[in-house]
Amino acid sequence: MITGKTKLLGVIGSPIAHSLSPIMHNAAIAHLGLDYVYLPFLVEPALLKQAIDGFAAIDLHGFNITIPHKQAILPLLTEISSIGQTIGAVNTVWRTENGWSATNTDVSGFLHPLSALKRDWSQTTAVVLGNGGAARAVVAGCIQLGCAAIQVVGRDAQKLEHFLHSWMASLAANVQIHTWANLPNLLPHADLLVNTTPIGMSPHIERSPLSAQDADHLAPNVIAYDLIYNPSPTMFLQQARDRGAIAIDGLEMLVQQGAAALEIWLQQPVSVDVMRRSLKQHLRLQ
Ligand code: NAP
Repeated sequence: MITGKTKLLGVIGSPIAHSLSPIMHNAAIAHLGLDYVYLPFLVEPALLKQAIDGFAAIDLHGFNITIPHKQAILPLLTEISSIGQTIGAVNTVWRTENGWSATNTDVSGFLHPLSALKRDWSQTTAVVLGNGGAARAVVAGCIQLGCAAIQVVGRDAQKLEHFLHSWMASLAANVQIHTWANLPNLLPHADLLVNTTPIGMSPHIERSPLSAQDADHLAPNVIAYDLIYNPSPTMFLQQARDRGAIAIDGLEMLVQQGAAALEIWLQQPVSVDVMRRSLKQHLRLQ
C-alpha cells in the first residue's frame, strides 16, 4: 500500500516501457514488507538535467539508469565509484547530503554466473561481440577476471578505435579490436564468447550474431554468454550448445545487477530468489 511516507525509487531511460526492473524490484520490496515503491520514468535526453533536479526536489531516494543516459548523467553527479569511472558509465544512483552518488552494478552482475564456475581465468581469451554500453561492463569484468586477452568485435571502425582508447588508461588492459570480418579467425581461440549486441533479442529470435559457418569455428569447450534474456536460449546460445558449449543467458546478470542496486538503496540484503522468480514468471506470461 502506498502511504504518505512511501519512499520513491525508480529507473530512468528512453524508451522505458519494456523495462523489467519495476517487476523485480517491487517484488523484492514487497517480500521485505518495506514502504518503498519503484517506478519507471520516461526521460528524454534533452530533459535529463531537469529530471535529476526534479528528483532532488521530490526527495527521490535512488534510481537506476538505462539507455541512453548511462554516460550522459556523469556530469550531473557529485561522486562516482571507481568502477563507474573506469567504465565511464553508471547504472545506480543514490542521494547523499552533497548531491547524487553513483556506481555501476552491471560488472558484478555480469561476473556473478562466471564466478560460480570457479575457474582460473588467467589463460582465457575472451571474445566480446559488440562495443556499446554493455560491452564496457563486460570488458571491465573480463579485466577483473584477469583474462589473458580480450578481443572486441564491432562494425564501426571509428567507434572501435574510440572504445580501444578508452581502455588505455586501465591497468594492464589487454584489449584488442576487430571488425566482424575477422571473427572466423578469432572464434577457434575463444574460451569465453560474449554477445553484447541485441542480435537475436525478441521478437527477432531467429537471428544470431554467428552465421552457421561461424558456429562451426567454435571450440567445443567455449563458454557462450548472451546478455539477452528474452528469449532463452537465444539462437546464439543454441548454436553454442549444439557444439557442446556451456551456455549462460542474461537473466542472472539482470537479477544480480538489480539486487546489488537495491541493497545499496535499502542498506540491507534482498532476496535474489524473489527477484529471479518474479522475472521468470513475467517472461513466461509474455
Ligand atoms: P548499445 O549501447 O546500443 O550497444 C549495442 C552494440 O551492438 C553496439 O556496439 C552496436 O554497434 C552493436 N550492434 C547492434 N546491432 C548490430 C548489428 N545488427 N550487427 C552488428 N552489431 C550490432 O546497447 P547495450 O546497452 O550495450 O545493450 C546491448 C544488449 O545487451 C541488449 O540486448 C541489452 O538488452 C543487453 N543487456 C543486457 C543486460 C543484462 O542485465 N542482461 C544489461 C545490459 C544490456 P554500433 O555501435 O555500431 O551501433
